[in-house]
Amino acid sequence: MKVFFVYTNINGFHADSFGDGIAQIMAVTKKAGHEIRQMQIFKKDEYSAASEAIIDFKPDVIGFTSVSSQFSFVVELSDIFKKISPNTINVCGGVHTTLYPQCIMETKNLDAIFIGDSEYAFLDFLEKIKNKVSWKDCDNIAYNDNGKLKKNKIRKLLNDVELEQLPHPDRTIYPFSKVLQTVGMAPFHFTRGCPFTCTYCSNIGIAKIYGQTRYNIRQASPEYAIQELEETIEQNPTIGPVYNISLTDDIFGLNKKWRREFLSLYRERIKVPFICLLRCDVVTEDTMQDLAKGYCHTIQFGVESGSDYIRNVVMDRTMPRETIINAFQLAKKYGVNTNAINIIGVPGETKEMLLETVKLNREISPTTTGVNIFYPYKGTPLGDKCFKEGLVNLDKYQDFSNERRESVLNYSEEWLETLKYYRANWSKEIFPFSYRRTFFRTVDGLKQIIKDIPIAGPMIKDRYQKTKRDIKMSLYYKDKRKKRFL
Ligand code: SF4
Repeated sequence: MKVFFVYTNINGFHADSFGDGIAQIMAVTKKAGHEIRQMQIFKKDEYSAASEAIIDFKPDVIGFTSVSSQFSFVVELSDIFKKISPNTINVCGGVHTTLYPQCIMETKNLDAIFIGDSEYAFLDFLEKIKNKVSWKDCDNIAYNDNGKLKKNKIRKLLNDVELEQLPHPDRTIYPFSKVLQTVGMAPFHFTRGCPFTCTYCSNIGIAKIYGQTRYNIRQASPEYAIQELEETIEQNPTIGPVYNISLTDDIFGLNKKWRREFLSLYRERIKVPFICLLRCDVVTEDTMQDLAKGYCHTIQFGVESGSDYIRNVVMDRTMPRETIINAFQLAKKYGVNTNAINIIGVPGETKEMLLETVKLNREISPTTTGVNIFYPYKGTPLGDKCFKEGLVNLDKYQDFSNERRESVLNYSEEWLETLKYYRANWSKEIFPFSYRRTFFRTVDGLKQIIKDIPIAGPMIKDRYQKTKRDIKMSLYYKDKRKKRFL
């Protein structure tokens, strides 16, 4: 069977264009002997190139993946592809279809959507198409059955042993070297799930789909993860000399035994500085020591809100203010950089509460800080509440991809402007007297102005964007250093 995978990231929130979910499905599909191709779409201008690729490849199945803010583009593309190739079956998986399977009813040309862990269900689906039998009884799918939503049985979540048997996510057909240049780091994801119950996050919504109250973590062994890192570094030798590693697990190393073993292998065999995400309340002196020894240079912490009411009642973070302060102090003690992640624009937040977030950020004094504007994801408790209570501006929500950078809630113009202001000036508000940061802000501002000048613009590169020359020079100096120490 021929399968064409499509990953859209149009006006996406994350520059990170590596979809580890789709890369995993690609690897499984390839291993089962199917012929695969993949395309990433970053602009609507690329729709015609995608159409040409479909005409050229003639796939039996087109597989999309989608987060909420990308779904309208998936719908548009499925309409275009169906016109070109009416017999090709269009399907979509990912976090949006898992949390909100009803989305299939909003489309005309998606034949089915997949819900939850679908590696093996997708292989069965392909097998049925190959054998020319109906795929409508496949597990984990939902489809439009003559105007009614039909949801099939969902298989159990893959356990640690089953995850261990999966091939590593594909980074050969998936253009990983391009991802490195875009993101400026090498992203890896080793854990599925997070057991906390934050009301704005997908994890609690996914747990509900599986009839659970918490979405407990599952992961393959540390050895499996290290082998994936080694294999990728071998294919992409710029990881290490040029690009650091980014461990994008929702919470890195929640399982202490796994973390210890992983970091010990990492120190022996990988030795590349990395960045990871942690919750303030899982950090102990022991964790921090372990991370600092194990090449961790930066930890990203979700601070979310300085208001106890917003953080613990509306967001259900169950996190005392002192715990946040302690975590940042511990990171400083061990010389690990910190990045504070915050959310503003949550329903019920007042200007005073927003200023409490500013105040808390000043108090913890992270190395860097950033802020997102709340976005109501369907299928999450807080997202669903917003829709149920009519808080969402539905016209704006439709075709909205400016996720987390603008609010789609029915707020007053004044409050929308306030949110926009804080989103744009966050760093300046938190560190008003930092000369170093003011310098970088000025340089970034100048770059933005120059970028609009026709000839000079293309010569400006982003802070993390590496040119071929940078990469060549880094490899050259690494080689020189090595020779010196031989
Ligand atoms: S801790 Fe983070 S990943 Fe886990 S549920 Fe909360 S927001 Fe989601």
